[in-house]
Amino acid sequence: MKKIAILGSTGSIGTQTLEVVRENGDLEVLGLAAGNNIKLLEEQIREFAPKLVAVWTEEKARELRENVKDLSVKIVSGMEGLIEVATIAESEILVTAIVGMIGIRPTIAAIKAGKDIALANKETLVTAGHIIMPLAKEHNVAILPVDSEHSAIFQSLQGNSRSALHKILLTASGGPFRGKKRDELANIQVEDALKHPNWEMGRKITIDSSTLVNKGLEVIEAKWLFDVDVEQIEVVVHPQSIIHSMVEYVDGAIIAELGTPDMKLPIQYALYYPERKFLPGDRVDFATLSQLTFEKPDMDTFTGLRMAMEAGKAGGSLPTVFNAANELAVSKFLNRKIQYLEIPEIIETCMCNHKNIVNPTVEQILQTEQEVYEQIESRW
Ligand code: NDP
Repeated sequence: MKKIAILGSTGSIGTQTLEVVRENGDLEVLGLAAGNNIKLLEEQIREFAPKLVAVWTEEKARELRENVKDLSVKIVSGMEGLIEVATIAESEILVTAIVGMIGIRPTIAAIKAGKDIALANKETLVTAGHIIMPLAKEHNVAILPVDSEHSAIFQSLQGNSRSALHKILLTASGGPFRGKKRDELANIQVEDALKHPNWEMGRKITIDSSTLVNKGLEVIEAKWLFDVDVEQIEVVVHPQSIIHSMVEYVDGAIIAELGTPDMKLPIQYALYYPERKFLPGDRVDFATLSQLTFEKPDMDTFTGLRMAMEAGKAGGSLPTVFNAANELAVSKFLNRKIQYLEIPEIIETCMCNHKNIVNPTVEQILQTEQEVYEQIESRW
């Protein structure tokens, strides 16, 4: 039995990870962590019998303790609780399926404790990739991508020399507003932006996909995961989402991973790597697949992608500013406090006002996040 722990078990990636666990029967869940959804967490505790569970607030933790007092599970809370789950003894892999920069500290703690990381929480790598990647190397732990595009790149790199890698072709569906121009985006409502054409995901990443900010975060994530320059990453809009990303080698050969859109594939691949296991579900049928199409991304309309590439090239604390400004702007948009086009506007303002810090420490990253939040709260 391979032993795992999951941060963000009640979310989109978290619940799909548990589906993979359920379908395979040879993975043992030692720890779970989530934010507020203690109802689902209780169901997960009863089904998967973890030893340790973390919820964000002590109030919710108390309530959950009461609800599962017939079981021997330990319930903890706060950042300390997240770190306790991330570092739980005997667990071999930590699935980071939590959303946002809150994942930085538990991921670092898990690496120091020698756990491999199945990484979905891209915000951690975007803001602290310069800390996470060398730390993983030092502790000899693997960072296994869960994001479908990065898993596709990772799969396409297998069996080839890294020095032969010429560039990465990162595919993007283009989101629900592909083809629209800026003036057509002015009145976009929350409901419109939450309709992704191909993938069912959490709310924040669905909004990020519609603004192409998600693709921008993925560019920075790829830079760290595969040790390439941002200039070596080309975003290719591919609306059908069948090709999940590609790698071009120095001899011009392009290797890709294709499949139907199903996050369980990259989750399962990360959990069992390098083994491949049967996964039930739809398969690509080339006889009925009418076309695979490709376009350039429209970075004049979807400025989030352009700004992410600038932040990724500059490095330092600028990706933190990009990410933090986006996190708060998206949350304000979801709460109907700002308009859709104010999301990129807020990011741009924060990036322009920032004095970049080279090689920021975790404290400086979190301080930068705080400053960005304060700046936004004072103006929007
Ligand atoms: P969801 O919003 O669906 O889930 C987020 C999870 O994080 C929930 O379990 C939530 O708990 C938990 N959480 C939020 N805040 C806290 C907190 N303070 N303490 C503990 N747990 C917390 O997000 P997704 O699953 O969509 O995304 C998770 C990560 O994976 C993101 O970084 C995203 O970019 C990345 N990703 C997602 C993909 C997808 O298909 N969904 C694809 C590729 C990457 P609760 O609900 O109980 O409050």
